[in-house]
Amino acid sequence: MKRIYDERNLIFSRARLKKGTKAYIAYYNKHPRLKSADDDIRGMNINEKLRQSETFKSLFFPIHGSTKTLFKALHDAVDQAPLGKRVDVPAHFKKNIKAITKHYGAKDVGVVKLHDSHYYSHFGGTNTLLNLDNYGQAITSSYTHAIVYLIPMDLEHMNRAPNYEEQLETENAYLNIAYIGSRLALYLKSLGYKSTLQSETYYLTPLVPLALDAGLGEIGMTNHIVHPKYGNRIRLGAVLTNLALPADQPIDFGLEAFCKRCALCVMNCPSRSITPYPRIVNGRRFYKFDDVSCFKLWKNTGTDCGTCIQSCPFTQGIDPETIKNMQKDPRIIDDVIKDYLAKNGRRKYRKTPLDIVALEDET
Ligand code: SF4
Ligand code: SF4
Repeated sequence: MKRIYDERNLIFSRARLKKGTKAYIAYYNKHPRLKSADDDIRGMNINEKLRQSETFKSLFFPIHGSTKTLFKALHDAVDQAPLGKRVDVPAHFKKNIKAITKHYGAKDVGVVKLHDSHYYSHFGGTNTLLNLDNYGQAITSSYTHAIVYLIPMDLEHMNRAPNYEEQLETENAYLNIAYIGSRLALYLKSLGYKSTLQSETYYLTPLVPLALDAGLGEIGMTNHIVHPKYGNRIRLGAVLTNLALPADQPIDFGLEAFCKRCALCVMNCPSRSITPYPRIVNGRRFYKFDDVSCFKLWKNTGTDCGTCIQSCPFTQGIDPETIKNMQKDPRIIDDVIKDYLAKNGRRKYRKTPLDIVALEDET
């Protein structure tokens, strides 16, 4: 299969294009139907319209700003580390690599044998944190395997989505993912295997197809990976490497049937961006999604929302035995949803802010 993913098609890349530039003209000559909607969200600053005081913004926004240098430091540490003298990794040790990834902090790990079709064809210029000016550059890397891993995001924070707690937790998770991946990549390089970190600022491959192939979950109507234990409240990372490892297989815990009876993310999405209509991309089932209306909602509320992550019943936790049983008897899905609705209403939203965002008024 050829490379059909192109990072330039991501909303984050399109929104960055500056009107009138060569890149802008070339992109919209090729994709004229996207131009007018994209022009509406161009150059947006996500937090600008956050409904909080200027004092709040001046005290809280540096939480994100101050970690940016850390992302770069982690990526630079991996890139600049020399390759060690090649150590042969015996077959019986290879399963330890997953355990080591967990030792570094991952909660679930899978391995994918990479094909050309896993890669993006071109960079979309989204990795500005690394000071790379690579928009439009063809991606030529050819690592053989990906170690794909995840961490869950804290439920108390996520249940306050779309408020600021959600964004704090998302930021935390991105950094922790980068930390785990950098340790793993440094370890593999020290064993003499070329390795690179995929997280937050720098991607050679989209992560959702990788996580699907690594058996970390299935794709839900949100187009995120839904993990059987943590649901949607996960962040993904991957280390691409030339160390050959046994590959995992995709899993099927009955999500497609569950989504068909659930659609809670569709109902809860404030911008109506999620749809129940499947579409096949590169042989994998995704759902039709309006990325512009989602992004516009972020812009208008000043947060990155996350309501869809929070409203998934798997995010709130479903007993593993029940998950097993509902595969044999899909009527159990209706009971799970009925129970969820009785306990939480349409979603388990927590209105009371967490202490971390409290701002005492000194006047
Ligand atoms: S982040 Fe919010 S607006 Fe975007 S798809 Fe999810 S629920 Fe909808
Ligand atoms: S909220 Fe329901 S429909 Fe949406 S991803 Fe989760 S299980 Fe599927």
